[in-house]
Amino acid sequence: MTRKTGFVWHEIYMWHDTGTHAGVLPAGNPIQPGIHAENPETKRRFKNLLEVSGLYEKLVHIAPRPATDEEILRVHTADYINRLKQESASPRGGDAGLLTPFGPGSFEIAALSAGGVIAAVDAVLDGRADNAYALVRPPGHHAEPDMGKGFCLLANAAIAGRHALAARGLGRIAYVDWDVHHGNGTERVFWEDPRALTISIHQDRNFPPDSGDMSDIGGGAGEGYNINIPLPAGTGVGAYEATFDRVVLPALRAFRPDMIFVPSGFDAGAHDPLGRMMMHGEGYRSLTNKLLGVADELCGGRIVMSHEGGYNAPTVPFYGLAVMEALSGIKTEVEDPFMALLEGLGGQELQPHQDEVIRAAETLLERLK
Ligand code: ZN
Repeated sequence: MTRKTGFVWHEIYMWHDTGTHAGVLPAGNPIQPGIHAENPETKRRFKNLLEVSGLYEKLVHIAPRPATDEEILRVHTADYINRLKQESASPRGGDAGLLTPFGPGSFEIAALSAGGVIAAVDAVLDGRADNAYALVRPPGHHAEPDMGKGFCLLANAAIAGRHALAARGLGRIAYVDWDVHHGNGTERVFWEDPRALTISIHQDRNFPPDSGDMSDIGGGAGEGYNINIPLPAGTGVGAYEATFDRVVLPALRAFRPDMIFVPSGFDAGAHDPLGRMMMHGEGYRSLTNKLLGVADELCGGRIVMSHEGGYNAPTVPFYGLAVMEALSGIKTEVEDPFMALLEGLGGQELQPHQDEVIRAAETLLERLK
């Protein structure tokens, strides 16, 4: 079955300047500054592989537009937005918060990034696309209402979710964040909001520090609607699939969202420099197919993915292509040359200590019933 898959891209996303760093360390540390960990390379190569594979021309191209102040204010504080605007107007750029440097003009690029996810939501709700992938930058899932974090300036997926609820009249939305890092920003935005189920599957104790525990289940009216599944370092495809089958899909079925958002980082892929998991292209294809199945059951197949992390330039494009092939139902002739290497890694199948974590997460489902 083929589907109309929307795709958001703009060249200027690649011009967001994170400066010269050694990974995440700025100049002034006892190490030669070079390329910042969050740079355009993996994203550009993902888009380029879509073109080379022939899939790009079969997608529904969605033009991004900047998110308005009113839309951004549904998530962020006025003080924070004003500070970003001021620093963005300076020839030196600024820093949005923890590990989030930016160059001149980055506020406008971040607004276009958030607006790109909004445009994807609108395209799906208006029926121009069945589902959509917004390949936006800078990323968003670590950004909190009053500060940036972890390379994220504005909370793209949360801003688009609030748009879906406030401007498009959806009753309930769900987030399935498979980036290797905790989706702390989305969690904080919707902490007390029972209209949003926020699920984050991440590497235990990676980033942000002290964030993403399973005991954090939301508060007030939102209690029970935040599910953190912190998987141990070294987790392979078997445990990811089990997590989806046993926790993510049952949670979605219990909650019955009108739209599913996927903050999509590919840093849980094997060989990622900022993660220690072992996902691969076929793994991402499998998770996408699982989500499509449950989205067909619950919400007319409506899935909007927004790009987050993923830092290994050779492999990320193949994870992205696998997801886009699954979303569109169009298999290209490109074969992932890394599969043989990555599926042969020891420990790809579910391990007992991973099973324990998933069993503990299964008990969170009771709160949804
Ligand atoms: Zn990440």
